[in-house]
Amino acid sequence: SVSAVEESEEENFLRSPICCVMGHVDAGKTKLLDCIRGTNVQKGEAGGITQQIGATYLPAENIQERIKELKAADDKHMKVPGLLLIDTPGHEPFTKLRSRGSGLCDIAVLVVDIMDGLKPQTIESLNLLKSRNTEFIVALNKVDRLNGWKPCPNAPIIKAMKQQSQDVKNEFNMRVVQIVTQFKEQGINTKLNVNENKRMRETYSIVPISAKSGEDIPDLLSLMVYWTQKSMTEKLTYSNEVQCTVLEVKYVEGLGTTIDVILVNGVLRRGDQIVVCGNHGTPIVTRIQSLLTPEPMKELRVKGKYQHHSEIRATQAIKITSPQGFEHAIAGTALYVVGPDDDLEEVKEAAMEDMMKSVLVNNNK
Ligand code: GDP
Repeated sequence: SVSAVEESEEENFLRSPICCVMGHVDAGKTKLLDCIRGTNVQKGEAGGITQQIGATYLPAENIQERIKELKAADDKHMKVPGLLLIDTPGHEPFTKLRSRGSGLCDIAVLVVDIMDGLKPQTIESLNLLKSRNTEFIVALNKVDRLNGWKPCPNAPIIKAMKQQSQDVKNEFNMRVVQIVTQFKEQGINTKLNVNENKRMRETYSIVPISAKSGEDIPDLLSLMVYWTQKSMTEKLTYSNEVQCTVLEVKYVEGLGTTIDVILVNGVLRRGDQIVVCGNHGTPIVTRIQSLLTPEPMKELRVKGKYQHHSEIRATQAIKITSPQGFEHAIAGTALYVVGPDDDLEEVKEAAMEDMMKSVLVNNNK
């Protein structure tokens, strides 16, 4: 268990922000996720990226290595331990990642295709983000498709723009103006994040990127980290109180029906008594049988696909099994740990109340 010393050390300790990628179909959400996850793995440099269940963890060292060329990186200190990127793009994981009506996703990346501008699903995403009060960054993707674009892999946009012809610059500017206008029509002020956007809460940043050739991905990562750690200090302060959401309920051969969860705060331990919402209006009361994360890639040949843990600390994505399985668990609801001083009946009530709210939220979305 956590000692008093550890606890006091953690008073001002920030957890990793949770990030979702949203936007219209074909805007490049999957490609962007691949790009963020894959760049360094392929190059074999500054590794440390870990694949989780339903998420990818980018440790601070990895991010720092990737943004080191940025001017902004010189005088800034990374306070968050990393970034937890939800692997599935789109609305569904975002709507499931909630707690008592508010969003668990700390920051979203709204991907917009520079050639297409805002599309119906972009507007749907925007409305969801507004309704959950979630901050977001606009990733204006596919800049490489501008006619005559000269690729500058992984370069910051200022550097990449300097390489472009006047025609490309003109087309870029024209498209940005159009897209800023389209956002304005939705009641959202946006601004190109060329020089640092200091008023991000009123004016959302647009980061022009290419998920194909990697332009300005460093700026996007840097903005995600520095913006969240600066403006969400309170929300991101690590707490020992367990905050955990069920993202998926999945049958796995040999394991039975498991739940994939995002542990936002606190520690889960093998053997913990837990309560999860069940359909049929009955809460599931059980124990954590195993806490699983995928094997690191290099150990793929080792027997068994998962690593077992006796305890896991937030922020992480984890697969959980229980002796009786989770057949009736409901994705998008909270997982509660029954502590030594907790009354089981009260915890069960809280869990089911949470489900009622989830139903309301999902019907009104
Ligand atoms: P999603 O539906 O939003 O997940 O979109 P995808 O990531 O599947 O991308 C849709 C298509 O656009 C695919 O053919 C991608 O290869 C392509 N694409 C995505 N990002 C870029 C980009 O930055 N530049 C170019 N040229 N193509 C891209």
